[in-house]
Amino acid sequence: MNYDVIVIGGGPVGMMLAGELALADVKVCVLEKLEATTPYSRALSIHPRTLEILDLRGLKSELLKIGKPLPTGHFAGLETRLDFTVIDSSSNYSLFIAQSETEKVLERRAKELGADILRGIEVLSVNQTPDSVEVSAFGTNGLMTLTAAYAVGADGAGSLVRKQANIAFIGTDATLTAVQGDVVLKNPPPTSVVSSFNEKGMIMIVPVSKELHRVVFIDPDRKSIPKDEPVTLEELRAGMIRMLGEDYGISDPYWMTRFGNATRQAERYREGRLFLAGDAAHIHFPAGGQGMNVGLQEAMNLGWKLAAEVKGWAPEGLLDTYQEERFPVNTALLRNTRVQTLLFGTDFSPTTIHLRRLISDLLESPEANYRLASQIAAVDVKYNAGENVSSHRLNGRRLAELKLRSANGDVYSIYELFRDGKYVLLNLASDSNAVVIASDQPHRLFNVISASLAEPANDWDNVHTALIRPDGYIAWAVSAAEADILTRIEQGIKQIGRG
Ligand SMILES: Cc1cc2nc3c(=O)[nH]c(=O)nc-3n(C[C@H](O)[C@H](O)[C@H](O)COP(=O)(O)OP(=O)(O)OC[C@H]3O[C@@H](n4cnc5c(N)ncnc54)[C@H](O)[C@@H]3O)c2cc1C
Repeated sequence: MNYDVIVIGGGPVGMMLAGELALADVKVCVLEKLEATTPYSRALSIHPRTLEILDLRGLKSELLKIGKPLPTGHFAGLETRLDFTVIDSSSNYSLFIAQSETEKVLERRAKELGADILRGIEVLSVNQTPDSVEVSAFGTNGLMTLTAAYAVGADGAGSLVRKQANIAFIGTDATLTAVQGDVVLKNPPPTSVVSSFNEKGMIMIVPVSKELHRVVFIDPDRKSIPKDEPVTLEELRAGMIRMLGEDYGISDPYWMTRFGNATRQAERYREGRLFLAGDAAHIHFPAGGQGMNVGLQEAMNLGWKLAAEVKGWAPEGLLDTYQEERFPVNTALLRNTRVQTLLFGTDFSPTTIHLRRLISDLLESPEANYRLASQIAAVDVKYNAGENVSSHRLNGRRLAELKLRSANGDVYSIYELFRDGKYVLLNLASDSNAVVIASDQPHRLFNVISASLAEPANDWDNVHTALIRPDGYIAWAVSAAEADILTRIEQGIKQIGRG
């Protein structure tokens, strides 16, 4: 076989996944039809949980040098913004950064870790046998055929892999389109973000770079125009004047496009040796800036599981937990983007204006605001804990950053322990027996760390030992108050994989 895994599609999700697989020493290639990263950035924001997972792998600092942190996000462009600063995270903000920049960072990392990135190659067909996957593609050297143990379709909304695997894409067609232009504004608005909703439509303006602003609007009179009908500068200018009363000196369009609210999810994310991730698995109106974010989180979820299978240590059923864990997250995502579309793209009557005012007022309440902020930030995601582990509040939750103190007094972030993509067994009780049990296991799938908390952290004060997954979710925690702690730890370790 040529590879362990072939990733089809080198957008952000494919590149992230390739990096994760290469980190685990899996032989992986990405087949991408574009010769270079597209300069047209759809996504402009990376939300808190995605920043955290990038931080686990040491990538956040690189992105921070390029992007600009913003303390808030939005829901349906409501006037009261979502406050990310109250999230228990060192990434309690949204990073404003062009998708093309994010993609470049992820591609470079995948390459550095040893993934083969083959550009200018369009995949034409994908066939699987009980033992392998055969991928036929066309590139500058003509037709080629590659084989692998697994293939992942990260090939976007029109996914060929999804179609070839006969996986239904269930949902609804677009009922409206929005207009978008990345343009020069000679007299930019005084506030960095403009967001307005009235009976004439919905419009947002945000900066994209030093030179460009993004203008996005839904015009009630033009929202039935099909997505492939080209946008003109005049259309953008007329919309701005109608909705805002001025055009801010709009000129020099860099990219103009129309996008719709088709909302669909793949019936399943796996068919035998084929998997789907990112837009190949789900599409929705890009409300709240979530599509790329969830895709990157999926890549992080699938990467270590697929690596475990390839390397032969995955316990029975591990690969199926990819769908079990991510499908409900994306069902909730599709629901929230549908609700947002209803609130800012469907009806522009005084009743909707009143409804928006009402919800906006409710979002002034910290509790209500947090409820939506944690959803958009994806810090509310929680997975089921495995069977036969001690019950603990932390089980299945995301690992928020902790500051740890080593035996010699050094203080460091727990995230630094995840650079190599392994499990971390964290012993906070200075219990050498626990460390011995862990070290005695025949496989070395995890790093064993003895440390203490350098500062108090929610729900961690009574933890004796915890096992944290490679993607930064807590597999289980054992409380110091538990009877028979060492047996619990031993049982918990045995579950993570074949030796
Ligand atoms: C207007 C707009 C704004 C958005 N804003 C945000 C935002 O702020 N935040 C956010 O998180 N998300 C946002 N999104 C969504 C985000 O852009 C997507 O969710 C994201 O690009 C999905 O990444 P992906 O890698 O799954 O797919 P894609 O980015 O679509 O990449 C798929 C890749 O596969 C390649 N490919 C396809 N078929 C083949 C083939 N047969 N052979 C080889 N290669 C192939 C394509 O060339 C492409 O490079 C926005 C979307 C839109 C439309």
